Amino acid sequence: MKTNYIFVTGGVVSSLGKGIVTASLAAILESRGLNVTIMKLDPYINVDSGTISPIQHGEVFVTEDGAETDLDLGHYERFIHTKMTRNNNLTTGRVYSEVLRKERSGYYLGSTIQVIPHITNEIKERIIYCAKNHDIILVEIGGTVGDIESLPFLEAIRQMASNVGREHALYLHLTLVPYITVTGEVKTKPTQHSVKNLLSIGIQPDILICRSDHIISKNECKKIALFCNLPEKAVIPLIDVDSIYKIPFLLKKQNLDEYICNRFKLICNQADLSDWEKVIYEETYTIGKVTIGVIGKYIELPDAYKSIIEALKHGGFKNRLNVNIKLIDSEKIELNGVHLLNDLDAILVPGGFGKRGIKGKILTVKYARENKVPYLGICLGMQVALIEFALNVLNIKNANSTEFDEQCDYPIIALITEWCSKSGDIEKRSKDCDFGGTMRVGNQLCRLIKDSLVFNMYKKEIIIERHRHRYEVNNTLISNIEKSGIKVVGRSIDNKLIEVIENSNHPWFVACQFHPEFTSTPRDSHPLFIGFIKAAKKYHSNYIK
Ligand code: GLN
Repeated sequence: MKTNYIFVTGGVVSSLGKGIVTASLAAILESRGLNVTIMKLDPYINVDSGTISPIQHGEVFVTEDGAETDLDLGHYERFIHTKMTRNNNLTTGRVYSEVLRKERSGYYLGSTIQVIPHITNEIKERIIYCAKNHDIILVEIGGTVGDIESLPFLEAIRQMASNVGREHALYLHLTLVPYITVTGEVKTKPTQHSVKNLLSIGIQPDILICRSDHIISKNECKKIALFCNLPEKAVIPLIDVDSIYKIPFLLKKQNLDEYICNRFKLICNQADLSDWEKVIYEETYTIGKVTIGVIGKYIELPDAYKSIIEALKHGGFKNRLNVNIKLIDSEKIELNGVHLLNDLDAILVPGGFGKRGIKGKILTVKYARENKVPYLGICLGMQVALIEFALNVLNIKNANSTEFDEQCDYPIIALITEWCSKSGDIEKRSKDCDFGGTMRVGNQLCRLIKDSLVFNMYKKEIIIERHRHRYEVNNTLISNIEKSGIKVVGRSIDNKLIEVIENSNHPWFVACQFHPEFTSTPRDSHPLFIGFIKAAKKYHSNYIK
């Protein structure tokens, strides 16, 4: 079967949830037995999102193959079974660096290098490459139509219709239909303008999805269809809902998948959303509530913790609990004290980079440890747990990570290259310190020990998890810490690196160097999050008693 292309653009304003709509549509198409993938084109000039602060565009999502990508790829993996790779996210920076590399190598044989055709060809080649072996690829273009930055991408997708055949290309445009309170009506004009904008660059949308917080009447849809050259059934209103996992149902109810399959003349099954029904059931019919604190430092933008927030909810689904998530600024804890943690049933310290907010995180770990509150430390959350233990249980002054104090006397967390130079252990230096000190990112194998909480959750010895960090637990110092209650329960498959720890003197204190949140999905909640929410419930019940 020839691959079919659905290009998703956005208009009127940003933050309309294009990623969620794209992923939801992909989920319905996948449920019809089609082999679906999704690609995100990002107009920014960064080569990838690895260097961007999470408070700008939200979290950096890590793929199995170790690419640092846009958070939308997280939505894609939560909605469809196809795994994303570095080929599923393309930025302007990556396109230009590749074109410039080719130019320097003489690849273009004396041509003048221009946006059209060289940049647009590079974009098209990469879309076609990503689409390979799939029945349908949905290509989401970041930003809003009218932005200067996204023009080469829009030009490339316009040309794609000629490359693959107009019958195999479909343009879906997502807009906003605002409600004006004073007059009490919804307005279609911004949508008309946005479509005009698209038309001016040569793209006639085939489908419009109109986001609104009010009902858009049949008449209004008719009007939009008339002004935008579309059949009425191609105008799909999408009203706000309380859960993103309901969106596949809303789109299916309006026969969007049917319309697309007919348009591509696809012979396939009817959509089967039964596993999504189960998700909605678990989310709706809860038997209780737990409050979880996420103690971070990028809390002004909740998207900075998107996968963590979703994974916590997924853990709630399987326990049939409503998870109330409180994002708490670790600097506030440092400033105002740990009483801010008083009403929490469990505490999660997520990943992070840099010194700011560390003191508050260490105080948080101390609070969780002393009060026996369930604790889940992720990446930096594991590193601060060990620093806290060294400082307050072992009374080692100046225990730290070299990320925060390069000169500290007791670098319990350090770059691998620093472990031995700090501890002065020459023998170890030759044995352990020869594998670089750069970022460890992407899938890694880990072996769990059987006598552990984590083994009981995963129910297997060898696990695969995604990493994204530079610093590691210092192997040369861990034996001291192990003697006083910290138990190393997971190590890298070569036995060299510490991946999971538990605290033997605590009912549920687990910390891992990897990021379990990246692999949790609503249909397949991550075992660590299921266990964590279960522990929160137990703590909550005991506390209430
Ligand atoms: N900053 C720490 C490191 O680089 C932790 C990173 C993280 O939490 N993702 O090792």
